[in-house]
Amino acid sequence: MKILFINGTNKIGGGELSLLSIAKYYRKNSAVVSFDNGDYTNLLQENGIVSIVLKNAKELLNIKREDGILGSLLKIKYLFLTIFELRKLIKDYDIIYCNSQKSIFLGLLSTLFIRKKVVIHVRDMMDNPNISNFHKKIFVFLINFRRPVIIANSVATKEALISIGIKRKIEVVYNGIMIKDLKKREKEKKKKFIIAMFSRISHWKGQKYFIKAVKLLKDKKEFENMEFWIVGDALMNDKDKDYKSYILKLIKKYDLEDKIKLFGFIKNSIELMQNIDILVLPSIYPEPFGRVVVEAMLLKKVVIATNHGGVTEIIENNKSGILVDVENLAYDISESILKLYNDKEFYKYLAENGNKRAIENFTEEKMLKNIDNIIKD
Ligand code: UDP
Repeated sequence: MKILFINGTNKIGGGELSLLSIAKYYRKNSAVVSFDNGDYTNLLQENGIVSIVLKNAKELLNIKREDGILGSLLKIKYLFLTIFELRKLIKDYDIIYCNSQKSIFLGLLSTLFIRKKVVIHVRDMMDNPNISNFHKKIFVFLINFRRPVIIANSVATKEALISIGIKRKIEVVYNGIMIKDLKKREKEKKKKFIIAMFSRISHWKGQKYFIKAVKLLKDKKEFENMEFWIVGDALMNDKDKDYKSYILKLIKKYDLEDKIKLFGFIKNSIELMQNIDILVLPSIYPEPFGRVVVEAMLLKKVVIATNHGGVTEIIENNKSGILVDVENLAYDISESILKLYNDKEFYKYLAENGNKRAIENFTEEKMLKNIDNIIKD
């Protein structure tokens, strides 16, 4: 069975890392189509996956969700050229597998009136208020008309699809992660207690609240022995870059430059994650899934995350991690950090339960088995 995967961005985010596992599994008979060359196409090649870059799709990458359909219409020429190019490619494959939003639009449009099986893997909360209603309507129309097999990466993502009007069957397949061949972490004599975020820098990921939580801890006696990391970079658009400037200013304003270490984007993030004690994911909008949460749990780290979206399907509050309310984010994060620092038994209880839960439910093996069953069906 030959599968043509279509992916919408050349940046490396959670959706792309999950697709990497899937495409690697089917690499003998498949290829991944990208809109442009970039870090992601390099990563595909490093993993022995056939990577095809579309000639005219680069322009489509600059269409922002907020532009709505009018902004998109301005790029119509590139859209038609890309559809034409894809329709030619599609002929050689049995299944067209679209990963994330832009590629779903393109994949559905390109396969209209062609008898091919189409799978769409939805990794966005499609009820997000930042997505225009018109955009949502077209999305729903294309799905109901083209009738693809639908996979959502969490129940939260599935429910968001239902709420915007998708009436077809939706399969939920949780992302799965494999951790292997880790270099042994260096043993330091006296290590600080490290609290970290491993997320791309973006308004909704909530770096601002992480920094505010650090500020709240500043006058506590425990602060001396703590270190804070922000791993990740502004990857997706100009808004993210502006947000990065803002958080840099915030760190300076609160005089935390010595305390918060910024790493930028790290390629092998799991290796670095071995060194931390707590992972924080203070997203202000619901995460569709939240790969970092599972990664940290697999490494036996305790996670503090906002109590909404796909994360609530991964963490059971106070059992396999800590969920905090979005209303009091900074304060609740700072209090949870203090509790975990001071109560070693509680830390161990959460770390062990979290690890067990991740191994039971969120392995790469399990994800691939579920996807394979859907594809074979
Ligand atoms: N990540 C990375 N380098 C970084 C920061 C994060 O490789 O500097 C990885 C992280 O380990 C995780 C993914 O990027 O695997 C982010 O996935 P998640 O689902 O948490 O967020 P998304 O980017 O999909 O919103």
